[in-house]
Formats: sequence, C-alpha cells, structure tokens
Amino acid sequence: MIKTGEATVVKHTGSHYLLSELPQWNLFPAVLRGKIRLKGSNATNPVAVGDKVSYEYEIPEGTMAQVNEVVTLENPAAITAVQPRRNYIIRKSTNLSRQSHIIAANVDRAFIIATIDFPEIKLPFLDRILVTCEVYNVPVTIVLNKVDLYRESHAEQLEAFHQIYEGAGYPILEVSAKTGEGVEELRAACDGHASLFSGVSGVGKSSLIKALDPSLDPRVGEISDAHLQGKHTTTFYEMYSLASGGFIIDTPGLRGFGLVDLRKEEIALYFPEMLKAAQDCRFTPCTHTHEPGCAVKEAVENGEISFERYSSYLGMLDEESKYR
Ligand code: GDP
Ligand code: ZN
Repeated sequence: MIKTGEATVVKHTGSHYLLSELPQWNLFPAVLRGKIRLKGSNATNPVAVGDKVSYEYEIPEGTMAQVNEVVTLENPAAITAVQPRRNYIIRKSTNLSRQSHIIAANVDRAFIIATIDFPEIKLPFLDRILVTCEVYNVPVTIVLNKVDLYRESHAEQLEAFHQIYEGAGYPILEVSAKTGEGVEELRAACDGHASLFSGVSGVGKSSLIKALDPSLDPRVGEISDAHLQGKHTTTFYEMYSLASGGFIIDTPGLRGFGLVDLRKEEIALYFPEMLKAAQDCRFTPCTHTHEPGCAVKEAVENGEISFERYSSYLGMLDEESKYR
C-alpha cells in the first residue's frame, strides 16, 4: 500500500534528505523521485532546507505504523513534489557565477547576529546582508550579542547603532549568550516560526543557539543518528527544533551571503527608508547621487536617513558598476 503525506525538509546530506512533519519532529529519510525541476531556477539543489514537499512510501496492507517508524535509509520515502516557496535565500559561488545554491526556503524571519565590538561590526557588511534579506523578502531582526562586553565601554556606539537601524525600520534585540540577558526574549521571538540564524564567525552564534536550547550544539550537528543519514556526510545547513518552540536554520560560514545581482537602479529599493523617501525625488529613476531635487539626499542632509546607511548605498552602487 502506498501512503502519501506532506513534510518539511530539515536537512540535506548529499544523498538523502531528512524530512519532518512540522510542527511535529518525527525525522525520516527520503530521496528525490525522478527529476524535480523548479521553473526558472538554476540552483544546484532543487530541494532545500525549509521546503514543503509531498512524499510517498510503501507500507504493508493494514499496517498502522507512522512514517518515521517504517521508513529507513535502505527503504526511504520518495519526495514526489516541492510546493511553491513563499521565499528563499540563495548563495552564489562567486559574484559572476551563474550557479547558485538555495540556503533555505520558507523563512519566516532572519536573525542577524552581530556585535558592536569583539569583533567590531562592519556596517557596510551588515547593510549588504540586510539588502539581501529585503531582496528575498525575509523580515529581519538584528541581534546584538555580547552586550555584557561592550554596553558600558561602547555606550555611544551602541546608542548610535540603535538610531541608525531602528531608524531604518529594523528591530534590535540586545542579548548575551554568556549572562543569559535577552535570551528569553529571543526564544519568544523564535516560537512558532522558522527562523534563519546568520552572523560572521566569532559573534557568538553557536553560543547563542546553545543558550536558546542547551540540547543543541551547532558545531557538532544536532541530528547525528547514523541510521537516519548515513555515515560520511557533508552538510551545510540544517533545521533545528527548539525545545521552547519554533525551528531555526543555522547558516555556518556564510561566505557570499549578501551577494545579490542587482541593477544600479534597484539597490535603493532594498533600503526601506530610502524607498520611502524616494517617492518625493524629482526624477524617476533617480540614483540619489547627483540629481537635483533628490529627496533621499535631502533626507540624509536633515538626518532622517543616516549617513552610514547612505554611505553603504553609495558603496554598493560603486561596486555594482565594477561588475557591469
Ligand atoms: P560563532 O563563531 O559565532 O559561532 O561564535 P562562538 O559561539 O564560537 O563564540 C565566539 C566566542 O565568543 C567564544 O569564545 C564565546 O565564548 C564568546 N561569546 C559568545 N557569546 C558571548 C557573550 O554573550 N558574551 C561574551 N562575553 N562572550 C561570548
Ligand atoms: Zn533621489
């Protein structure tokens, strides 16, 4: 007897996928049935973590067992279809590469982990990531970790950071994986959603995930059952189930996250505060650099748009022109 169902991809190990019928956490292995091609996609992985898929599996007539009780690595379920994605985040191998890899699909929110210091934050880099999230239509919360280290010593920078990014419309959470400050708030923000966790190495992303749920260890990999995924596996992205509710997708070593192909005139569309101001520019399109009657430049001059964000914008314009 063939049974069918719907589940979410929580991990891809090269040869197999691990599925779970979220919000249940009932992991079972599956493979792709035939060729599944998504229209207009040249991604190296047609199915990604976060994808909602249809699956089927064989079960002896009259058996009442659940899918995760009968499906094994040797006898996996078959993924028969991928449901349309609400959104997805891709990574390109290089700026000029045509090939891309889907990091995650159907992401409710991205938590961008950063630190004002230890390591020192690079605002243009953060702005690139924020632009990427806007392009992919993923809402962002900025998580400032390690506040125990710099709240006092960098009070001014911290205050300025809030002004810049709350002014641009991004919520900010101050947390410390070390002292536990703000961790409960972050937990509550994760509950009931699928969230992407991203941040440059050293900001304490792994520590924070452990603080959210001590049973998780991102560096080791949560799902280590060999019978579910085979022995020698390379995996980059996986979804974790938080004991307090919600699912997170860790993105270790995200090189090139932040590289999106945008035409010059598109860039400002993904700075929410500029998009708003640009409605009053005299010319359309307006690059917001030299045009007379540019409402964005005016907003920068009177402090409604931060100079830092505007500088990042100019930097991105400049870089785009190098590649095109
Ligand atoms: P990752 O590379 O982003 O995963 O960062 P890790 O979780 O490995 O943390 C990098 C370093 O920062 C480690 O030495 C952690 O102990 C330290 N760390 C992480 N979070 C905090 C924090 O909130 N406060 C302090 N003082 N140190 C932290
Ligand atoms: Zn303008």
